[in-house]
Amino acid sequence: MNSGALETDTSSNDREGQSWQAELSRNIVSVAELEEYLPLTPEDRRDLERVAASHPLNIPRYYLDLIDPDDPGDPIRKLAVPTIDELILDGEMGETTGDPYGDDKHDKGNGILHKYPYTALVVATEYCSMYCRHCFRKRMVGLPNDQTVKNFREAAKYIAAHSEIKNVVISGGDPLLLTTDVLKSMLEELRGIPHLNYVRIGSRAPVVFPMRLFEDELIDLLADFNRDKPLYIPTHFNHPKEITGIAREAVQRLHGAGVTINNQAVLLRGVNDSVETLTDLMDGLLRIGVNPYYLYQCMPVSRVRHQFQVPLKEGVDLVDEARRKMDGYAKRFKFIIGHDIGKLEICGRIDDKLLLKQLHARPGCQQESSRMLVRKLTDKGGWLDDLPEAGL
Ligand code: SF4
Repeated sequence: MNSGALETDTSSNDREGQSWQAELSRNIVSVAELEEYLPLTPEDRRDLERVAASHPLNIPRYYLDLIDPDDPGDPIRKLAVPTIDELILDGEMGETTGDPYGDDKHDKGNGILHKYPYTALVVATEYCSMYCRHCFRKRMVGLPNDQTVKNFREAAKYIAAHSEIKNVVISGGDPLLLTTDVLKSMLEELRGIPHLNYVRIGSRAPVVFPMRLFEDELIDLLADFNRDKPLYIPTHFNHPKEITGIAREAVQRLHGAGVTINNQAVLLRGVNDSVETLTDLMDGLLRIGVNPYYLYQCMPVSRVRHQFQVPLKEGVDLVDEARRKMDGYAKRFKFIIGHDIGKLEICGRIDDKLLLKQLHARPGCQQESSRMLVRKLTDKGGWLDDLPEAGL
């Protein structure tokens, strides 16, 4: 890993004595503000304005400080700063869609997505501290939409009435952008539901806006809830440069509240598509006590696929080679396709055949769960639907 990253200077982030809301209000939200930090050509400026009109620009200053302004290929820049490629909807990698995971089909109204019987997901907010350029919910984050929960008490009633639901994911957007009082009222509704084994709060705050975790009231709330039901935070580190001293402190504060943190990275071209970067990422996560959990294949999302997706043929070899360098805990992550039909683990390849195992299946298709699939690898195929069916 980039050993210097853990020692990132905290002085430029001036978090002492300042609320996270005040820090958030200093985010870079316009091309003109961005230009004060990163050199832009007149062409860049015009392109960025066009792209930001369809998916807003929003970068915390902490995260901007991780970018090397002299390196146009900087991986952190690619994750945070728009590029003209976001306007490509149908290019070399194939077609794109706004909703590759099929969320909309499982929308029960009032912010509830219920795709697998045992898990309910509540879209708690459409806002995030940063609008990641590779976001798979790009169709809704940062934009007004009707999929966000309107009344959490009603959402909790739905969950209480469905005893097959074993866990809830509070998601978004980023729920940790809600005030602690709002989060408290949500967690209180879930605390007493007997069939819930645990609760997850999906958040990228530890990575892009760790100062959110420096609020004592939030940590106290999480610790208090955790005494009744285990609390997990699925987070999303993609590159070893993101594993800074401040991110480690944020993670340690969550550990202090008894929260388990699992990482869900995405394999992204120009960001982490090398053996060394993937190995450094997983090793770096273990060094700060975060569990490598998933590595997602980038979905065919509109305005994401063409600049970020790695063909499966290349990706499967890359992941296998990286795994050879990892110890047992580092290689515990699953390489995953989050598909409309359910979640599929990419197990590996035999010659030109890709082997997958289906982990979860849609309602009514439970017999598909745990089945094995075989597909023929092609040079450019980046998604299950691109690969022809094959036998062993
Ligand atoms: S924090 Fe998550 S939901 Fe928000 S823009 Fe980034 S990837 Fe999307």
